[in-house]
Amino acid sequence: MSIVTDVLLNTLGDALTLDVRACERFEIYASLLSQWNKKFNLTAITEPSAVAVKHFADSLMLLKYIDVPQGAKLIDVGTGAGFPGVALLIARNDIKLTAIDGTGKKLDFVRMLLNELGLDAEVVHVRAEEAGQSADFREKFDVATARAVASLNELCEYCMPFVRIGGTFAPMKGAAGEDELKLARGALKLLGGEIAACECFNLPECGERCVINIKKISQTPPRYPRPSAQIAKRPL
Ligand code: SAM
Repeated sequence: MSIVTDVLLNTLGDALTLDVRACERFEIYASLLSQWNKKFNLTAITEPSAVAVKHFADSLMLLKYIDVPQGAKLIDVGTGAGFPGVALLIARNDIKLTAIDGTGKKLDFVRMLLNELGLDAEVVHVRAEEAGQSADFREKFDVATARAVASLNELCEYCMPFVRIGGTFAPMKGAAGEDELKLARGALKLLGGEIAACECFNLPECGERCVINIKKISQTPPRYPRPSAQIAKRPL
């Protein structure tokens, strides 16, 4: 067993089980991330055991706290080098993943990675606020998630429009997650959301992390998402 699998399985404990194929895929992922990172700035974290904890295990914790139905359509907004979306797909091949990002270079990596892993996903170079106004994406997903993209009161405007009524918005946050949630209460309500839970956990060398569970209970008003300059200047 290599260091990546060893550290990943130890960190996950009984939160989640991974089969042999998934472990092999995480090994390949870590190796390609390290190779590509020499040429492109994909992530500051490349040391194998740190990748296993801070990228892989952290991404996979969503599956411990969020009910992702079999065959669910999941969108990862601002996927970067594939977190959490591709990690979730490795653990749950039944998921129909759409990974979007406003930076094309990172998506070249994600496309190459999926090809090497033998996995299928829709990878789209688009900004969230544009995709959220498009009929192809709007209210089409069972689950929307994002990690390290924006503060929650901005992120909810980017992500809530993607979620179908009855679906889930599951942002992944750090130690400030609970405080961000307090600030975003009004925005979430306006966008059709209802807070179900804020699940906090500790990861070695990462400190406190949290997965927030927001149910979509009503349609997002058509004027949202607004252009990104407005979202940043006047967050809801
Ligand atoms: N989610 C990944 C992770 O956790 O490692 C990447 C995080 S990286 C810090 C933020 C990513 O979000 C970048 O790749 C950036 O291009 C993307 N991003 C930021 N704002 C965006 C927007 N409005 N639409 C699409 N992508 C966006």
